[in-house]
Amino acid sequence: MTDRHITVAIDGPSGAGKSTLARMSAKEFRLLYVDTGAIYRTVGLAAQRAGVGSRDAAGVIQLLPGLDIAMDYDRTGVQRMLLHGEDVSREIRTPLSSIYASDVSALPEVRAFLLEMQRRLAREHNVVMDGRDIGTVVLPDAGLKVFLTAGPEARARRRYRELTEKGTACTLEEVLRDIQYRDKNDSSRAAAPLRQAEDAVLLDTTDLSLEESAQALNTLIRERFGL
Ligand code: C5P
Repeated sequence: MTDRHITVAIDGPSGAGKSTLARMSAKEFRLLYVDTGAIYRTVGLAAQRAGVGSRDAAGVIQLLPGLDIAMDYDRTGVQRMLLHGEDVSREIRTPLSSIYASDVSALPEVRAFLLEMQRRLAREHNVVMDGRDIGTVVLPDAGLKVFLTAGPEARARRRYRELTEKGTACTLEEVLRDIQYRDKNDSSRAAAPLRQAEDAVLLDTTDLSLEESAQALNTLIRERFGL
């Protein structure tokens, strides 16, 4: 093992398998897994609950100073999101929450509000952090940056399976539409758009099984950090 500080940044579009793979690598190398999408989803949920429209920028920004967002980990190491102390980990996964997350995350004020929270986690722990701008904005000095992607249909099929397994009612068409909406939103926004960092390794999992993808990611981590 190495005593080096380990930071792995994983970025990519919705449904590329970032969270599943990041979680697997975190377990393999005993890193803290930080799902930054969940943090944006929690801001989105706060807006939803306050009756503020997802595209009502002024309304969302006004909520920020009063927001108490925290994260903790349960006994099995699963990240939980707390909004004013209430565990909202399940509620932030609905299709409407995805849209809200994507819309509120386009606001520079929201991104600035969450930046320090993410950086602190990476300073205090060995982390594998996934999101859209981790390698480009949040952790520009990450020891390893991976841009994880797959074709939109493959991503929609995977996310559909994941949602239905968790008991969320939806159709494959809905999930594909949601992915296309978020791809467009996330890549075209002015604030921290989704893009591959110049020094990120591209990992395209369209034709890879979950095991093959996990192996590819773990090999990258092992080689980069000498584990
Ligand atoms: O990763 P997940 O799909 O849960 O993220 C929800 C939304 O939050 C994304 O569609 C994206 O708009 C936003 N997000 C972001 N930056 C991150 C993580 C997520 O803008 N680092």
